Amino acid sequence: MAWWFKIKLWKRVFAGLVLGVVFGLVVAQTMDAAHAEALLSKVKIIGDVFIRLIRMIVVPLVFFTLVAGIYAMGDPKKLGTIGVKAFVLYLLTTFFANLLGLLMGALFQPGKGVDLGGAAPKTLGAATSIGDRLMSIIPENPFAALVQGDMLAVIFFALLLGVGLLMARKAGEPAGRFFEAVSEGVLMMTHIIMELAPFGVFALIAYVAGTKGVATFTAILSLTLAVYIGCALHMAIVYGGMVRFLARLPVVDFFRGILDAMMVAYSTSSSSATLPVTIRTAEENLGVKKSVAGSVLPLGATVNMDGTSLYLGIVALFTAQAFGYHLEPQHYFLIALTAALVSIGTAGVPSASLFLLSIVLQVFNVSPEHTALVIGFIFPFDRLLDMMRTVTNVTGDSAVAVTVAKWEGEIDEEVYRARPAA
Ligand code: ASP
Repeated sequence: MAWWFKIKLWKRVFAGLVLGVVFGLVVAQTMDAAHAEALLSKVKIIGDVFIRLIRMIVVPLVFFTLVAGIYAMGDPKKLGTIGVKAFVLYLLTTFFANLLGLLMGALFQPGKGVDLGGAAPKTLGAATSIGDRLMSIIPENPFAALVQGDMLAVIFFALLLGVGLLMARKAGEPAGRFFEAVSEGVLMMTHIIMELAPFGVFALIAYVAGTKGVATFTAILSLTLAVYIGCALHMAIVYGGMVRFLARLPVVDFFRGILDAMMVAYSTSSSSATLPVTIRTAEENLGVKKSVAGSVLPLGATVNMDGTSLYLGIVALFTAQAFGYHLEPQHYFLIALTAALVSIGTAGVPSASLFLLSIVLQVFNVSPEHTALVIGFIFPFDRLLDMMRTVTNVTGDSAVAVTVAKWEGEIDEEVYRARPAA
């Protein structure tokens, strides 16, 4: 078994990814659909176990790491500067994502000539209003928020608790150290769980490739291309540029350092489930200190979703093109603005943003029937698009964390430049 552990983890996960695609496609080709689905559903259980294991530690990790991160800042004022810098970068990157999304939608014209007549309309549950959502950030009962995994409410409470412990000075010290110790322990749990990643990723990808397969790529080829190319460009240009020119750090080391997180994001389609891995890669491979990793990453996983914003812009144009809605210049602006807002409100779970699409489509008065048709049409393929936007979301959070850490002097550059150990 020693030979297995000698292979670096990211290589094992990558092998799982590639073999999973091959396995899924071979099963789909050699068996009839019902048998293939039955077999792949059994295989997928390993993937579901993996996802449950990482989801299990998301809430304790966010809670303990965030309190420990704030405590490690040593000064409540620092929270302000880190917060402001992170927010400016979140907004800036989302702005570029919007531009790219609209550009891709205009360039690829994914909705042109698409016949949505055959799609089964999908109706939507009532969306909560933005006002209610904002209010719910303040938990009435923080313990209930922890139990329910209400991420923004947990973040809000943890931020204040961290500040409170700092303000308590000596009296707060033991608790500060306690949070620090537990967060280290929970982080170590990701190491244990990640040993299952090669198999989990294999199983999840095999299921997607075998049940959705290449046919789906071609059925909505231009939409898929627009999303994949848009996200790839965004990661290379905007994040690559940010790390290179704003953080003044080598870009290759950045992407190499977060490979594990990118692959887990791709196979799970959930930036929230990926969070433990994102925090681990940032701290251990990129040298980002807990004060930044523990605060910028949990917040980013919840509010900073560039891939989602980019995707929503493309799908809005897709809808306009498919049904012939005429768009005025101000509509583009409003689409970008609502896409950005919706991406902030989207939960980091699979397909979350597709169900908020109606808010963006309201900008140019798309009828409820058309909205239901578009969602029904995209839904069966959404997983493939979701995987790519989730990778973008997670990469964006890591890029912002690295840049803020560099600006704040909260990064160990030796660790950043060294090759990842695992
Ligand atoms: N699945 C995405 C994420 O977790 C959210 C979405 O766009 O649906 O980042």
